[in-house]
Amino acid sequence: MKNYKITLIKGDGIGPEIIDEAVKVLDAVSSCCGFHFEYDEALMGGCAYDMTGDPLPQETITKSLNSDAVLFGAIGGEKWDRLPREKRPESGLLRFRKELGVYANLRPAIVYDELINASSLKPSVIKGVDLMVVRELIGGIYFGEPKGRDESKGWNTMVYTRDEIVRIAHNAFKIAMERSKRVCSIDKANVLDVSQLWRETVEEVAKEYPEVALSHMYVDNAAMQLIRDPKQFDVMLTGNIFGDILSDEASMLSGSIGLLPSASVGAKIGVYEPIHGSAPDIAGQGIANPIATISSASMMLRYELGEIEAADKIDEAIKKALKEGYRTQDLAQFDAKEVCSTSEIGSIVANYIVR
Ligand code: NAD
Repeated sequence: MKNYKITLIKGDGIGPEIIDEAVKVLDAVSSCCGFHFEYDEALMGGCAYDMTGDPLPQETITKSLNSDAVLFGAIGGEKWDRLPREKRPESGLLRFRKELGVYANLRPAIVYDELINASSLKPSVIKGVDLMVVRELIGGIYFGEPKGRDESKGWNTMVYTRDEIVRIAHNAFKIAMERSKRVCSIDKANVLDVSQLWRETVEEVAKEYPEVALSHMYVDNAAMQLIRDPKQFDVMLTGNIFGDILSDEASMLSGSIGLLPSASVGAKIGVYEPIHGSAPDIAGQGIANPIATISSASMMLRYELGEIEAADKIDEAIKKALKEGYRTQDLAQFDAKEVCSTSEIGSIVANYIVR
Protein backbone atom coordinates (compact mmCIF):
# COMPACT_ATOMS: atom_id res chain seq x y z
CA MET A 1 0.00 0.00 0.00
CA LYS A 2 1.34 3.44 -0.92
CA ASN A 3 2.33 5.54 2.10
CA TYR A 4 2.57 9.35 1.90
CA LYS A 5 4.40 11.37 4.52
CA ILE A 6 2.58 14.64 5.17
CA THR A 7 3.95 17.42 7.34
CA LEU A 8 1.13 19.19 9.15
CA ILE A 9 1.78 22.78 10.16
CA LYS A 10 -1.28 23.84 12.11
CA GLY A 11 0.00 27.27 13.12
CA ASP A 12 -1.99 29.83 15.08
CA GLY A 13 -5.59 30.98 15.56
CA ILE A 14 -8.03 28.74 13.69
CA GLY A 15 -5.12 26.79 12.11
CA PRO A 16 -5.35 23.72 14.39
CA GLU A 17 -9.16 23.51 14.04
CA ILE A 18 -9.20 23.59 10.24
CA ILE A 19 -6.22 21.24 9.79
CA ASP A 20 -7.91 18.65 12.05
CA GLU A 21 -10.89 18.62 9.68
CA ALA A 22 -8.70 18.27 6.60
CA VAL A 23 -6.97 15.29 8.25
CA LYS A 24 -10.38 13.72 8.96
CA VAL A 25 -11.23 14.02 5.26
CA LEU A 26 -7.80 12.78 4.11
CA ASP A 27 -8.18 9.69 6.31
CA ALA A 28 -11.63 9.04 4.82
CA VAL A 29 -10.37 9.32 1.25
CA SER A 30 -7.24 7.22 1.86
CA SER A 31 -9.35 4.39 3.27
CA CYS A 32 -11.40 4.41 0.04
CA CYS A 33 -8.57 4.81 -2.43
CA GLY A 34 -6.03 2.30 -1.15
CA PHE A 35 -3.23 4.44 0.21
CA HIS A 36 -2.10 5.58 3.62
CA PHE A 37 -1.02 8.88 5.19
CA GLU A 38 1.63 9.22 7.84
CA TYR A 39 1.42 12.65 9.52
CA ASP A 40 4.13 14.53 11.30
CA GLU A 41 3.36 17.84 13.00
CA ALA A 42 5.77 20.77 12.85
CA LEU A 43 5.71 24.22 14.42
CA MET A 44 5.57 27.55 12.65
CA GLY A 45 4.35 31.05 13.44
CA GLY A 46 3.47 32.52 16.82
CA CYS A 47 3.18 29.12 18.52
CA ALA A 48 6.68 28.24 17.30
CA TYR A 49 8.04 31.54 18.60
CA ASP A 50 6.41 30.93 22.00
CA MET A 51 7.93 27.46 22.30
CA THR A 52 11.35 27.94 20.69
CA GLY A 53 11.97 31.69 20.27
CA ASP A 54 11.96 31.25 16.47
CA PRO A 55 8.85 31.48 14.21
CA LEU A 56 10.46 28.92 11.87
CA PRO A 57 12.53 26.32 13.75
CA GLN A 58 15.08 24.43 11.62
CA GLU A 59 13.31 21.20 12.56
CA THR A 60 10.21 22.36 10.65
CA ILE A 61 12.24 22.90 7.48
CA THR A 62 13.97 19.53 7.84
CA LYS A 63 10.73 17.64 8.51
CA SER A 64 9.02 19.36 5.56
CA LEU A 65 11.82 18.63 3.12
CA ASN A 66 11.74 14.97 4.18
CA SER A 67 8.02 14.61 3.52
CA ASP A 68 5.91 14.28 0.36
CA ALA A 69 3.90 17.47 0.95
CA VAL A 70 3.06 20.11 3.53
CA LEU A 71 -0.48 20.91 4.63
CA PHE A 72 -0.51 24.30 6.26
CA GLY A 73 -3.19 26.04 8.37
CA ALA A 74 -2.45 29.70 9.08
CA ILE A 75 -0.13 31.75 11.22
CA GLY A 76 -0.12 35.11 12.98
CA GLY A 77 -2.06 37.15 15.48
CA GLU A 78 -1.97 40.41 17.37
CA LYS A 79 -0.01 38.83 20.23
CA TRP A 80 3.10 38.64 18.02
CA ASP A 81 2.61 41.85 15.98
CA ARG A 82 5.01 43.93 18.05
CA LEU A 83 7.96 41.54 17.91
CA PRO A 84 11.03 42.53 15.88
CA ARG A 85 10.39 41.82 12.19
CA GLU A 86 12.50 38.64 11.98
CA LYS A 87 10.67 37.11 14.96
CA ARG A 88 7.19 37.72 13.58
CA PRO A 89 5.12 34.77 12.31
CA GLU A 90 4.94 36.27 8.78
CA SER A 91 8.75 36.33 8.50
CA GLY A 92 8.74 32.62 9.29
CA LEU A 93 6.33 31.96 6.43
CA LEU A 94 8.34 33.96 3.87
CA ARG A 95 11.53 32.18 4.93
CA PHE A 96 9.76 28.84 4.72
CA ARG A 97 8.64 29.43 1.12
CA LYS A 98 12.19 30.42 0.20
CA GLU A 99 13.71 27.35 1.89
CA LEU A 100 11.31 25.11 0.01
CA GLY A 101 11.98 26.91 -3.28
CA VAL A 102 8.30 27.30 -4.14
CA TYR A 103 8.13 29.52 -7.21
CA ALA A 104 4.57 28.96 -8.42
CA ASN A 105 1.43 29.94 -6.60
CA LEU A 106 -1.76 28.23 -7.75
CA ARG A 107 -5.01 29.87 -6.77
CA PRO A 108 -8.26 28.43 -8.06
CA ALA A 109 -11.40 30.55 -8.00
CA ILE A 110 -14.48 28.37 -8.02
CA VAL A 111 -18.05 29.59 -7.70
CA TYR A 112 -20.31 26.95 -6.15
CA ASP A 113 -23.87 27.11 -7.55
CA GLU A 114 -25.30 26.80 -4.04
CA LEU A 115 -23.44 29.93 -2.89
CA ILE A 116 -24.00 32.03 -5.95
CA ASN A 117 -25.65 34.75 -3.87
CA ALA A 118 -22.58 35.10 -1.66
CA SER A 119 -20.80 37.02 -4.43
CA SER A 120 -21.26 40.74 -4.98
CA LEU A 121 -21.54 40.04 -8.73
CA LYS A 122 -24.71 39.02 -10.54
CA PRO A 123 -25.40 35.24 -10.63
CA SER A 124 -25.57 35.37 -14.45
CA VAL A 125 -21.96 36.66 -14.56
CA ILE A 126 -20.42 34.19 -12.13
CA LYS A 127 -22.44 30.98 -12.51
CA GLY A 128 -20.03 28.22 -13.52
CA VAL A 129 -16.79 30.15 -12.90
CA ASP A 130 -13.89 27.74 -12.41
CA LEU A 131 -10.52 29.31 -13.13
CA MET A 132 -6.96 28.97 -11.89
CA VAL A 133 -4.45 31.78 -11.44
CA VAL A 134 -0.87 30.56 -11.83
CA ARG A 135 1.35 33.28 -10.36
CA GLU A 136 5.14 33.44 -10.41
CA LEU A 137 6.08 33.84 -6.75
CA ILE A 138 9.77 34.55 -6.24
CA GLY A 139 10.78 36.84 -9.12
CA GLY A 140 9.64 40.09 -10.72
CA ILE A 141 9.42 43.53 -9.15
CA TYR A 142 9.23 42.31 -5.53
CA PHE A 143 12.73 40.87 -5.79
CA GLY A 144 14.40 42.71 -8.72
CA GLU A 145 17.56 44.80 -8.27
CA PRO A 146 18.26 47.66 -8.06
CA LYS A 147 15.76 48.63 -5.43
CA GLY A 148 15.84 51.25 -2.75
CA ARG A 149 14.88 54.75 -1.74
CA ASP A 150 16.33 58.02 -0.57
CA GLU A 151 14.65 61.16 0.72
CA SER A 152 13.05 62.13 -2.56
CA LYS A 153 12.94 58.98 -4.69
CA GLY A 154 12.03 55.29 -4.42
CA TRP A 155 12.71 52.60 -7.03
CA ASN A 156 12.08 48.94 -7.76
CA THR A 157 12.93 46.96 -10.86
CA MET A 158 10.84 44.38 -12.65
CA VAL A 159 13.23 41.67 -13.81
CA TYR A 160 12.48 38.26 -15.28
CA THR A 161 14.98 35.88 -16.78
CA ARG A 162 14.03 33.58 -19.60
CA ASP A 163 14.52 30.55 -17.33
CA GLU A 164 12.15 31.91 -14.70
CA ILE A 165 9.47 32.46 -17.34
CA VAL A 166 10.00 29.03 -18.90
CA ARG A 167 9.56 27.19 -15.61
CA ILE A 168 6.36 28.97 -14.53
CA ALA A 169 4.93 28.66 -18.07
CA HIS A 170 5.42 24.89 -17.93
CA ASN A 171 3.42 24.81 -14.68
CA ALA A 172 0.57 26.70 -16.31
CA PHE A 173 0.47 24.54 -19.45
CA LYS A 174 0.63 21.29 -17.46
CA ILE A 175 -2.27 22.44 -15.29
CA ALA A 176 -4.25 23.49 -18.36
CA MET A 177 -3.76 19.98 -19.79
CA GLU A 178 -5.71 18.66 -16.77
CA ARG A 179 -8.42 21.28 -17.18
CA SER A 180 -10.05 22.92 -20.22
CA LYS A 181 -6.75 23.31 -22.12
CA ARG A 182 -6.72 27.10 -22.30
CA VAL A 183 -4.00 29.43 -21.02
CA CYS A 184 -4.34 33.20 -20.99
CA SER A 185 -0.97 34.83 -20.31
CA ILE A 186 -1.25 38.23 -18.63
CA ASP A 187 1.38 40.93 -19.24
CA LYS A 188 1.91 44.57 -20.08
CA ALA A 189 3.82 43.96 -23.31
CA ASN A 190 2.56 47.21 -24.86
CA VAL A 191 4.64 49.17 -22.32
CA LEU A 192 7.18 46.94 -20.54
CA ASP A 193 10.26 45.34 -22.13
CA VAL A 194 10.22 42.62 -19.50
CA SER A 195 6.67 41.76 -20.60
CA GLN A 196 7.80 41.47 -24.22
CA LEU A 197 10.32 38.82 -23.14
CA TRP A 198 7.58 37.19 -21.03
CA ARG A 199 5.24 37.00 -24.05
CA GLU A 200 7.86 35.66 -26.50
CA THR A 201 9.02 33.03 -23.99
CA VAL A 202 5.49 31.85 -23.17
CA GLU A 203 4.88 31.44 -26.92
CA GLU A 204 7.99 29.26 -27.22
CA VAL A 205 6.92 27.05 -24.31
CA ALA A 206 3.41 26.79 -25.79
CA LYS A 207 4.86 24.91 -28.80
CA GLU A 208 5.46 21.94 -26.47
CA TYR A 209 1.74 21.84 -25.63
CA PRO A 210 -0.03 21.87 -29.01
CA GLU A 211 -3.35 20.84 -27.43
CA VAL A 212 -3.47 23.96 -25.28
CA ALA A 213 -4.90 27.18 -26.74
CA LEU A 214 -2.76 30.18 -25.72
CA SER A 215 -4.01 33.76 -25.65
CA HIS A 216 -2.45 36.95 -24.29
CA MET A 217 -4.08 39.82 -22.44
CA TYR A 218 -2.80 43.09 -21.03
CA VAL A 219 -3.12 43.21 -17.26
CA ASP A 220 -5.43 46.23 -17.18
CA ASN A 221 -7.83 44.51 -19.55
CA ALA A 222 -7.57 41.27 -17.54
CA ALA A 223 -8.63 43.14 -14.38
CA MET A 224 -11.74 44.36 -16.26
CA GLN A 225 -12.50 41.03 -17.92
CA LEU A 226 -12.40 39.19 -14.57
CA ILE A 227 -15.37 41.26 -13.46
CA ARG A 228 -17.12 41.53 -16.85
CA ASP A 229 -16.95 37.88 -17.94
CA PRO A 230 -14.85 35.63 -15.66
CA LYS A 231 -16.11 32.46 -17.34
CA GLN A 232 -13.87 33.17 -20.35
CA PHE A 233 -10.81 32.15 -18.28
CA ASP A 234 -9.43 28.69 -17.59
CA VAL A 235 -5.76 29.13 -16.56
CA MET A 236 -4.43 32.68 -16.09
CA LEU A 237 -0.61 32.76 -16.19
CA THR A 238 0.93 35.84 -14.58
CA GLY A 239 4.08 37.32 -13.10
CA ASN A 240 4.41 38.14 -9.42
CA ILE A 241 2.88 41.60 -9.00
CA PHE A 242 0.11 41.18 -11.60
CA GLY A 243 -0.75 37.80 -10.08
CA ASP A 244 -0.79 39.22 -6.56
CA ILE A 245 -3.52 41.65 -7.54
CA LEU A 246 -5.46 39.47 -9.99
CA SER A 247 -5.56 36.42 -7.68
CA ASP A 248 -7.12 38.48 -4.89
CA GLU A 249 -9.61 39.93 -7.37
CA ALA A 250 -10.43 36.44 -8.69
CA SER A 251 -10.86 35.01 -5.19
CA MET A 252 -13.56 37.54 -4.43
CA LEU A 253 -15.69 36.29 -7.34
CA SER A 254 -16.83 33.52 -5.01
CA GLY A 255 -17.59 35.94 -2.19
CA SER A 256 -16.28 33.83 0.68
CA ILE A 257 -12.77 33.71 2.06
CA GLY A 258 -13.47 30.46 3.94
CA LEU A 259 -13.84 28.41 0.75
CA LEU A 260 -10.72 29.04 -1.28
CA PRO A 261 -7.58 26.90 -1.31
CA SER A 262 -4.11 27.53 -2.68
CA ALA A 263 -0.88 25.76 -3.43
CA SER A 264 2.70 26.96 -3.61
CA VAL A 265 4.82 24.56 -5.61
CA GLY A 266 8.36 24.40 -6.88
CA ALA A 267 11.35 22.21 -7.46
CA LYS A 268 11.13 20.46 -4.08
CA ILE A 269 7.83 19.90 -2.30
CA GLY A 270 4.60 21.91 -2.31
CA VAL A 271 2.80 23.77 0.45
CA TYR A 272 -1.00 23.54 0.45
CA GLU A 273 -2.96 26.11 2.43
CA PRO A 274 -6.19 28.09 2.57
CA ILE A 275 -5.97 31.65 1.24
CA HIS A 276 -7.27 33.12 4.50
CA GLY A 277 -5.29 33.97 7.62
CA SER A 278 -5.50 32.72 11.20
CA ALA A 279 -8.78 34.56 11.95
CA PRO A 280 -7.99 35.27 15.62
CA ASP A 281 -11.43 36.86 16.02
CA ILE A 282 -13.13 33.45 15.77
CA ALA A 283 -10.35 31.10 16.95
CA GLY A 284 -11.30 28.43 19.48
CA GLN A 285 -15.04 28.88 18.97
CA GLY A 286 -15.55 25.94 16.60
CA ILE A 287 -17.15 28.14 13.95
CA ALA A 288 -14.35 28.49 11.35
CA ASN A 289 -15.11 27.23 7.87
CA PRO A 290 -12.74 24.30 7.17
CA ILE A 291 -13.65 23.97 3.47
CA ALA A 292 -10.73 26.07 2.14
CA THR A 293 -8.33 23.77 4.00
CA ILE A 294 -10.12 20.58 2.97
CA SER A 295 -10.00 21.87 -0.60
CA SER A 296 -6.26 22.58 -0.18
CA ALA A 297 -5.85 18.92 0.84
CA SER A 298 -7.60 18.01 -2.42
CA MET A 299 -5.11 20.18 -4.36
CA MET A 300 -2.29 18.36 -2.57
CA LEU A 301 -3.65 15.03 -3.78
CA ARG A 302 -4.15 16.32 -7.32
CA TYR A 303 -1.00 18.37 -7.93
CA GLU A 304 1.59 16.82 -5.61
CA LEU A 305 0.68 13.17 -5.15
CA GLY A 306 -1.09 12.52 -8.47
CA GLU A 307 -4.07 10.93 -6.67
CA ILE A 308 -6.65 12.40 -9.02
CA GLU A 309 -9.52 10.06 -8.13
CA ALA A 310 -9.11 10.88 -4.44
CA ALA A 311 -9.01 14.62 -5.17
CA ASP A 312 -12.18 14.31 -7.27
CA LYS A 313 -13.89 12.48 -4.40
CA ILE A 314 -13.10 15.31 -1.97
CA ASP A 315 -14.27 17.98 -4.42
CA GLU A 316 -17.53 16.09 -5.02
CA ALA A 317 -18.11 15.63 -1.28
CA ILE A 318 -17.62 19.38 -0.65
CA LYS A 319 -20.11 20.20 -3.41
CA LYS A 320 -22.60 17.72 -1.99
CA ALA A 321 -22.33 19.16 1.54
CA LEU A 322 -22.96 22.64 0.18
CA LYS A 323 -25.79 21.42 -2.05
CA GLU A 324 -27.48 19.76 0.93
CA GLY A 325 -27.45 23.13 2.71
CA TYR A 326 -24.79 22.50 5.37
CA ARG A 327 -23.04 25.78 6.18
CA THR A 328 -20.65 27.18 8.75
CA GLN A 329 -21.68 30.45 10.35
CA ASP A 330 -19.87 32.66 7.79
CA LEU A 331 -22.25 31.35 5.09
CA ALA A 332 -25.35 30.97 7.24
CA GLN A 333 -27.33 33.61 5.36
CA PHE A 334 -26.93 31.81 2.04
CA ASP A 335 -29.64 29.14 1.84
CA ALA A 336 -28.50 27.23 4.95
CA LYS A 337 -30.53 24.17 5.84
CA GLU A 338 -28.38 23.63 8.90
CA VAL A 339 -25.68 25.79 10.48
CA CYS A 340 -22.81 23.52 11.52
CA SER A 341 -19.64 23.71 13.57
CA THR A 342 -16.18 23.35 12.04
CA SER A 343 -16.01 19.75 13.16
CA GLU A 344 -19.52 18.90 11.92
CA ILE A 345 -18.74 20.14 8.40
CA GLY A 346 -15.54 18.08 8.39
CA SER A 347 -17.46 14.97 9.42
CA ILE A 348 -20.19 15.56 6.81
CA VAL A 349 -17.63 15.86 4.00
CA ALA A 350 -15.73 12.79 5.28
CA ASN A 351 -18.95 10.76 5.49
CA TYR A 352 -19.94 11.63 1.91
CA ILE A 353 -16.59 10.21 0.78
CA VAL A 354 -16.87 6.85 2.54
CA ARG A 355 -20.56 6.34 1.81
P1 NAD B 1 -8.01 36.60 8.09
O1 NAD B 1 -8.09 35.95 6.74
O2 NAD B 1 -7.43 35.80 9.17
O3 NAD B 1 -9.49 37.05 8.55
C1 NAD B 1 -10.27 38.00 7.83
C2 NAD B 1 -11.75 37.80 8.19
O4 NAD B 1 -12.22 36.59 7.58
C3 NAD B 1 -11.99 37.64 9.68
O5 NAD B 1 -13.20 38.26 10.03
C4 NAD B 1 -12.10 36.15 9.89
O6 NAD B 1 -12.92 35.77 10.99
C5 NAD B 1 -12.72 35.69 8.56
N1 NAD B 1 -12.25 34.34 8.20
C6 NAD B 1 -11.02 33.99 7.76
N2 NAD B 1 -10.97 32.68 7.56
C7 NAD B 1 -12.17 32.19 7.89
C8 NAD B 1 -12.72 30.87 7.92
N3 NAD B 1 -12.02 29.79 7.54
N4 NAD B 1 -14.00 30.72 8.30
C9 NAD B 1 -14.74 31.76 8.66
N5 NAD B 1 -14.28 33.05 8.66
C10 NAD B 1 -13.01 33.24 8.29
O7 NAD B 1 -7.21 37.95 7.88
P2 NAD B 1 -6.71 39.04 8.95
O8 NAD B 1 -7.75 39.20 10.02
O9 NAD B 1 -6.28 40.20 8.16
O10 NAD B 1 -5.40 38.40 9.59
C11 NAD B 1 -5.37 37.68 10.84
C12 NAD B 1 -3.97 37.13 11.03
O11 NAD B 1 -3.68 36.17 10.01
C13 NAD B 1 -2.87 38.20 10.94
O12 NAD B 1 -1.91 37.95 11.93
C14 NAD B 1 -2.28 37.99 9.55
O13 NAD B 1 -0.94 38.39 9.48
C15 NAD B 1 -2.41 36.49 9.42
N6 NAD B 1 -2.44 35.99 8.03
C16 NAD B 1 -1.84 34.78 7.83
C17 NAD B 1 -1.86 34.22 6.56
C18 NAD B 1 -1.22 32.86 6.38
O14 NAD B 1 -0.97 32.18 7.36
N7 NAD B 1 -0.98 32.43 5.15
C19 NAD B 1 -2.50 34.87 5.51
C20 NAD B 1 -3.15 36.09 5.77
C21 NAD B 1 -3.11 36.63 7.04
